[in-house]
Amino acid sequence: MNEDLVRLLGRENVLFEREDLIPYSFDATAVLKQVPAVVVFPRTADEVSAVLRLARRHGAPVVARGSGTGLSGGSVPSPGSVVLCLVKMDRIVEVDARNFTMRAQAGVLTQAVYDAADRAGLFYPPDPGSMRVSTIGGNVAENSGGLRGLKYGVTRDYVMGLEVVMADGEVCRLGNKCVKDVAGYSLKDLFVGSEGTLGIVTEVILKLLPRPAAKQTLLATYARMDAAAETVSAIIAAKIVPCTLEFLDSRTIRCVEAYTRVGLPVDAEALLLIEVDGHPAAVAEEAARILEICQGSGATSVRLAADAAEAARLATARRSAFSSLARVKPTTILEDATVPRSELARMIRFIQEAGERHRVEIATFGHFGDGNLHPTFLTNERDADEMRRVELAMKEIFAHALSLGGTITGEHGVGLAKKDYLRKQLGDSSYELLKKVKRALDPQNLLNPGKIFDP
Ligand SMILES: Cc1cc2nc3c(=O)[nH]c(=O)nc-3n(C[C@H](O)[C@H](O)[C@H](O)COP(=O)(O)OP(=O)(O)OC[C@H]3O[C@@H](n4cnc5c(N)ncnc54)[C@H](O)[C@@H]3O)c2cc1C
Repeated sequence: MNEDLVRLLGRENVLFEREDLIPYSFDATAVLKQVPAVVVFPRTADEVSAVLRLARRHGAPVVARGSGTGLSGGSVPSPGSVVLCLVKMDRIVEVDARNFTMRAQAGVLTQAVYDAADRAGLFYPPDPGSMRVSTIGGNVAENSGGLRGLKYGVTRDYVMGLEVVMADGEVCRLGNKCVKDVAGYSLKDLFVGSEGTLGIVTEVILKLLPRPAAKQTLLATYARMDAAAETVSAIIAAKIVPCTLEFLDSRTIRCVEAYTRVGLPVDAEALLLIEVDGHPAAVAEEAARILEICQGSGATSVRLAADAAEAARLATARRSAFSSLARVKPTTILEDATVPRSELARMIRFIQEAGERHRVEIATFGHFGDGNLHPTFLTNERDADEMRRVELAMKEIFAHALSLGGTITGEHGVGLAKKDYLRKQLGDSSYELLKKVKRALDPQNLLNPGKIFDP
């Protein structure tokens, strides 16, 4: 097959030497690794289609890959697979300021999508912490969220259309630039969050918004975790929807500060980073009100960022939470158990207790406004006993999130890492429905097999 791939794509777009394959044998998820058979870099949808037809003839699995920043093992290769890496499809095809839309190939970096919209005076809100390196195709495949999710939603809310190559090589165009369109099933939505198991996304039509005219950032610190959770409820009860409402626990604060030196208060038990945006008058009013609410709900300190530069530094510090924690121990396992906002305080307490019960170190940060927590295990995969205890704590955390009406994953997807928990969340009939959809679109189970569920 390798010779055919070289003929199809050119030698420079095919890797099959073992040392070239190793960088594609893992993603950002701890522990999971599998060297693929070959890695290819198509440049057009037709090339993607030709690769899929060829792989199908050889019965070879195909694993789509963007930048490999996934946190559930989604782009970890299946044994003997062709890794189809889309990073060379990195062209922004069009920014349409009249329709507030952008067409971008799947390999465009999320940051480049944001920047291109910004240059046109427009705004692409979804901002995963990894946006400087993740691809828009990966974001669509994971339905990624970000720091602005509370007010602006997640990637799905901005996908108006997709070009998708199916397992049999057919190229389908789903959706369009119309604000309203109810012709047929909303097939594009089936592919958002499908983790490369139903088709390969080659191009995206994205919805853009007018750029908010003003923004203000606040930093509130707490001596008690509960008080931070209460602040979130109080802000929402006041009918204010900040665009960002992020939370860091004490362990995360200290690690981030040691790494970024932005001046975070290292003696705080918890910290909230809050951002409001919109019309300047509304932003000023909401920021003042939030300041009062924080003071009234037990914050030990609260302040407004002095200027845009300080706001940017604080946002960058928050974005480096994962990298900062990853410096502490050899293995970092980041989860994303998510609960309704009203259950945040209970969930955080449970995570702390689970860590103590099983003698494992867990730092927690996350998108508090969305109820989306990232309990992060700081551990060592070579310590089998500790890994067993991590596994036990993790199981309890997922079970507790479900018992509170939550989900095993708010944004990172199921992939390999969480597939053992999926049936419990969905129940038998929904779980079987997923499989029926998969069998209809990929009857030979060639696209990212073994991810999300076993057929
Ligand atoms: C430091 C850090 C911070 C992060 N912060 C966030 C965050 O705030 N919010 C969040 O949601 N996630 C976050 N993530 C997770 C990750 O960045 C996202 O899941 C991202 O969308 C993955 O993009 P990628 O290009 O790296 O995709 P990959 O990791 O390469 O792939 C992810 C999945 O998508 C599939 N896929 C990739 N491209 C395509 C395509 N074109 N067509 C079909 N399937 C495809 C793959 O098969 C795989 O299943 C973070 C990760 C890191 C390391």
